[in-house]
Amino acid sequence: MYNENENLEHFKSVWQKALVAIKESVISELSFNTYIKTANPVYVSNNEIIFEVSNEFIKDIINKKFYDLIKNAVDLTEYRNYKLTFCLKDEMEKRMEAEGQQQEADDWETQSMLNPKYTFDKFVVGPSNDLAYAASVAVSQQPGKSYNPFFMYGGSGLGKTHLMQAIGHEILSKDPKSKVMYLNSEAFANEYINSLPDRTIDKFIRKYRSIDVLMIDDIQFLAGKERTQEAFFHTFNHLYNLNKQIIISSDKSPKDLNPLEERLRTRFEQGLIADIQKPDLEIRIAILRQKSANENLDLSDDIIYLLANNIQSNVRDLEGALTKLVALSTLTNSVITKEFTLDALKEFITTTKKVEINETTILDAISRYFDVDKKSLLSKKRTRDVAYPRQVAMYLCKQYTESSLSSIGRFFGGRDHTTVMHAIDKVRNDLESNLETKKAVSDILEDFNITT
Ligand code: ADP
Ligand code: MG
Repeated sequence: MYNENENLEHFKSVWQKALVAIKESVISELSFNTYIKTANPVYVSNNEIIFEVSNEFIKDIINKKFYDLIKNAVDLTEYRNYKLTFCLKDEMEKRMEAEGQQQEADDWETQSMLNPKYTFDKFVVGPSNDLAYAASVAVSQQPGKSYNPFFMYGGSGLGKTHLMQAIGHEILSKDPKSKVMYLNSEAFANEYINSLPDRTIDKFIRKYRSIDVLMIDDIQFLAGKERTQEAFFHTFNHLYNLNKQIIISSDKSPKDLNPLEERLRTRFEQGLIADIQKPDLEIRIAILRQKSANENLDLSDDIIYLLANNIQSNVRDLEGALTKLVALSTLTNSVITKEFTLDALKEFITTTKKVEINETTILDAISRYFDVDKKSLLSKKRTRDVAYPRQVAMYLCKQYTESSLSSIGRFFGGRDHTTVMHAIDKVRNDLESNLETKKAVSDILEDFNITT
């Protein structure tokens, strides 16, 4: 019976917190009470949470309008990566019945463990993730052959789960019978621990050892869990010796994963290791464009830049911001203007530094960086300790603001536009040959959240 599910109680308490977050977000009180609050969690498995809802209409509205909002709230908890399903009571009963009848077979219902959205074609590739992407594609072409194990690491929200599941989708699309197993390391640990008292360890071992592709997400959670690491080590060796593909993700490289059994570390290092870096501006823009196109949203470039410039941490936050923006504009029937966006995304935007780039802020930054007072920078002084920072400042003004040469000249002590042009050319040349200049420019731009 589903109401005896033991994870359910735990999820219910988490759900209460998620509800608070949802309520505080963008939803109207009426919608919240009518739709969200009436959804009742009734079943929690390794990878799915089922909510019961009272009628077809509510189910429809939730799926159409509030799914992302709910999913985002749940993703902030340890139940991220769980599929959320909203069911009517009789649908639920039918499902449980069917499930009971074919438990064994269900072990390999991998498709349901994989998020259908996480495919290669939905993954935007750029300098920060191209190696991991290329390696993932290669692994999916020839599982178990060339890159085994494949170890992928990088910070949270950068696309590890997405790439990993994309490999799973790709392998299954070529060979639907392939036994692809995706789970995060916590689920692996739980399953192992739960199998101990029941003497189902045999089944545990049998199950894992008959797999073709084993994907363990977020292996860092095994750190310190010695017995589970031991179980994993044996499973790993068994599969590895049979040339089965093993794919692992982690938030740290194998050498930084502590404490991790040395022999596991050695195993991981024998295969291919790829890291994913934070997305640069270009890829953030590309991702926003892709996501808004997928949702049939027509966001102007202004809004896309505003989001991309301000939300730099990771792709998950970028998506979260977009979802929130859209939900809020739909619910309040508002046009997405710049002001609306700034207001809607207050919490995303105020947490990052936001310095507008203009002549005055560049002057401030240059004065700070080179430790020259502003008055000198704006004066006629031409000693090198002043002239060089001033030239860099002029270059930045030309490059990153709309100011004209003559306006820049006026600002910096009344110089004519040929002087400014000369300064800019000089800095451009220096950037090619002089590391000091290069570093100065990129450090100063960092103050403006511009990455070079
Ligand atoms: P991680 O597992 O590294 O914490 P996820 O794979 O869960 O990160 O990614 C977080 C979200 O960002 C997911 O919804 C994912 O689809 C999306 N995402 C991450 N990287 C990209 C990318 N390069 N292109 C498109 N979507 C991405
Ligand atoms: Mg992940």
